[in-house]
Amino acid sequence: MVLKRTTSLPHTVIGLRGDARDTSDMTLRPQHLKEYIGQCRIKEHLLVHIAAARSRKEPLGHTLLHGPPGLGKTTLAFIMAREMEAQVRVTSGPAIEKTGDLASLLTNLQSGDVLFIDEIHRLRPQIEEVLYSAMEEYVLDIMIGKGPTARSVRLNLQPFTLVGATTKAGAMSAPLRDRFIHTFKLDFYTLPEMQAIAERAGKILSLQFEERAAHHIARSSRATPRIGNRLMRAVRDFAQVQGQMRITETEALKTLDLLGIDRDGLDATDRSILSAIVETFSGGPVGLATLAAFLSEEEETIEDVYEPYLLQQGYLQRTSKGRMALPKAYEKLGMQAPEDIQMRAFS
Ligand code: ADP
Repeated sequence: MVLKRTTSLPHTVIGLRGDARDTSDMTLRPQHLKEYIGQCRIKEHLLVHIAAARSRKEPLGHTLLHGPPGLGKTTLAFIMAREMEAQVRVTSGPAIEKTGDLASLLTNLQSGDVLFIDEIHRLRPQIEEVLYSAMEEYVLDIMIGKGPTARSVRLNLQPFTLVGATTKAGAMSAPLRDRFIHTFKLDFYTLPEMQAIAERAGKILSLQFEERAAHHIARSSRATPRIGNRLMRAVRDFAQVQGQMRITETEALKTLDLLGIDRDGLDATDRSILSAIVETFSGGPVGLATLAAFLSEEEETIEDVYEPYLLQQGYLQRTSKGRMALPKAYEKLGMQAPEDIQMRAFS
């Protein structure tokens, strides 16, 4: 049987040298490594790998990018493809439902293409298995038919680069993780980096703004470019509606207040997480499931979206028994941490 090559897949989004995910992000997405702010160690490594692969006329090694949402994993995958002058095809773990979906994607790749799989930790095990030989030997072993007439067919693939992105590297199976040549963990951005990202967004959006306005937006962005960009747009909208041509510090602070974002970048949900752990669960430890049920939030949302920043900023600690509040969480709620909790900060 010949596997039919399709140009569109029902469960996947395919982008060619563009961005098929969030159109509002498109204009702000850096296109080249030199426009990509921060993550200096990753950029240094990538520059070397890109130069080496280009001189060997080979695709880049398969690359795994992990870190919380909005830190620039997708952006980096697109930049890698662009720097390699390759096409990028985009899909995600949950979108690949059948091995046939993956087979279709892989057999449609051209030499050097980048296949970007977002949320790669959500690939089904049987799909992962098909990916192993594709990653290692650029071949696809698929079973045709069922029962006694079933037979395995091997198809050759064009050499390609798989770029996987995940917010949960720990949830990936070890065999899949081990097949990536490069693994990069994206870190939260520093304040000067966030300021540069906010200013860059402001310039692309043709805004006039005071440096202090960009500073407050940067501070309130949870060290995350996607949030910085979103806040810059929100501040612009508020200023525009009020007929302001220039975004002042006062204007920026007013918008952040209206959005319920405090000076440390925490929003209402962050504060309810802290208040639940501190006040309802006496500082913890409290399990994720209990916390999620209490707050009527998805466990995954708390774990992937809210917690990483709260942990990184030292409000919370994650232990085998559950989440525990640190003194900074009490301070945020205007309370004095009990003595045993003050000791946690040093343990
Ligand atoms: P992720 O895939 O990690 O969720 P994205 O790559 O979609 O994050 O990034 C979200 C948005 O943040 C992008 O559209 C881009 O505009 C911006 N962004 C991400 N990383 C950077 C960066 N290093 N410099 C400037 N802007 C960035």
